[in-house]
Amino acid sequence: LIVQKYGGTSVGSVERIQTVAERVQAAVQAGNSVVVVVSAMGKTTDSLVKLASEISSQPSRREMDMLLSTGEQVSIALLTMALQERGQAAVSMTGAQVGIVTEARHSHARILRIETERVKRHLEQGQVVVVAGFQGISDAPDLEITTLGRGGSDTSAVALAASLQADACEICTDVPGILTTDPRLVPSAQLMTDITCDEMLELASLGAKVLHPRAVEIARNYGVTLVVRSSWTEDPGTKVTAPNRLPRPLEGLELAHPVDAIEFDTNQAKVALLRVPDRPGIAAQLFGTVAQQNLNVDLIIQSINEGNFNDIAFTVEKDVLEDAKNLASSLIPSLRGTSEDGDTVALVTDTQIAKVSIAGAGMIGRPGVAAKMFSTLAAAEVNIQMIATSEVKVSCTIAAEDCDRTIAALCNAFDLN
Ligand code: ADP
Ligand code: ASP
Ligand code: MG
Repeated sequence: LIVQKYGGTSVGSVERIQTVAERVQAAVQAGNSVVVVVSAMGKTTDSLVKLASEISSQPSRREMDMLLSTGEQVSIALLTMALQERGQAAVSMTGAQVGIVTEARHSHARILRIETERVKRHLEQGQVVVVAGFQGISDAPDLEITTLGRGGSDTSAVALAASLQADACEICTDVPGILTTDPRLVPSAQLMTDITCDEMLELASLGAKVLHPRAVEIARNYGVTLVVRSSWTEDPGTKVTAPNRLPRPLEGLELAHPVDAIEFDTNQAKVALLRVPDRPGIAAQLFGTVAQQNLNVDLIIQSINEGNFNDIAFTVEKDVLEDAKNLASSLIPSLRGTSEDGDTVALVTDTQIAKVSIAGAGMIGRPGVAAKMFSTLAAAEVNIQMIATSEVKVSCTIAAEDCDRTIAALCNAFDLN
């Protein structure tokens, strides 16, 4: 069983829909059961958003979902007709018909579960099931039509693949796969043959819209074999590799809580330069030199003291601590600068630290997750030394001796026991 998802450009015209139908039929003829998830044609969703804005300056989220969900309904019907025209048995289904049950939250609903019986029945009858992406329905009794957030068809596809335990989920799109950067901006961007879910999650959350971050998260949590490839060629594209982890129970498919992993690393050491004069170029000088020696820096923190001094601290792996320390101390004379700065710079190191991180795509757009981590540590009387954040991760360094109880406290706080 494979799940294939075709994006807006890929179903953007009658000809393209016919091309997709041809490819889907080829997959069936190769012996697969196929579920196809489609987006709205071309820029349909954008046009619908614009229409709404011409009617109302504050359209309600409920009516927006009602409106935007129509885009995908057009493409499922047309693609199904194209398949039937080719003699391929097929049936179209809306998110509600498929049983994609979501939170009752309009415009950004998360998927709670998928009731797959109906899809399975159609597959058993030899039909291709063509599913409207990006939409779902809230639980009874309300049965509200919901949408998953812009770009959410990817998430529909991966969630279906997880629920149906598909052999693979192919995200078919208008680029050959995941590239080193957006090819619209940098045409020479290179194709990656594979990328880990974690790297992809960072990329996606930073705005690489080639994959919806929540789709990557589901692939990671459920071990879905995920491939991003061109809708028009047979090239293999990019494999997004999931770590070997026990899949979670399907109940609460997209977790209601924002954090899905807590990680720790006790192999880091801290190097700090204290009372460095505050002037441009210091960080460039320090980290430029560190990089030249091929030392990988992980966390960096710069704190501003009163007067014209900063403390700069960074972490490296323990086995290169000596190198990093020698390097930092060799820089001290040049950091001292002018005589009025005084003879102030000091170097300290600490190997008794641990880096603790919380991670999850559910953190995106949910303020307060980092704050909850900090208050959890405060309640456990754990002192935070350094902090680094991304859209999908918050990392802190703490004393190594606090590591075990910090992990325990965070697992409790974020319901990950
Ligand atoms: P679809 O309609 O198929 O879902 P999207 O427009 O949502 O397609 O996503 C594909 C687009 O993502 C590409 O056309 C490309 O411009 C953009 N993109 C951004 N970053 C990357 C990247 N690193 N690799 C590939 N494509 C990227
Ligand atoms: N049609 C929706 C959008 O444009 C969903 C998607 O394409 O993934 O955001
Ligand atoms: Mg997309």
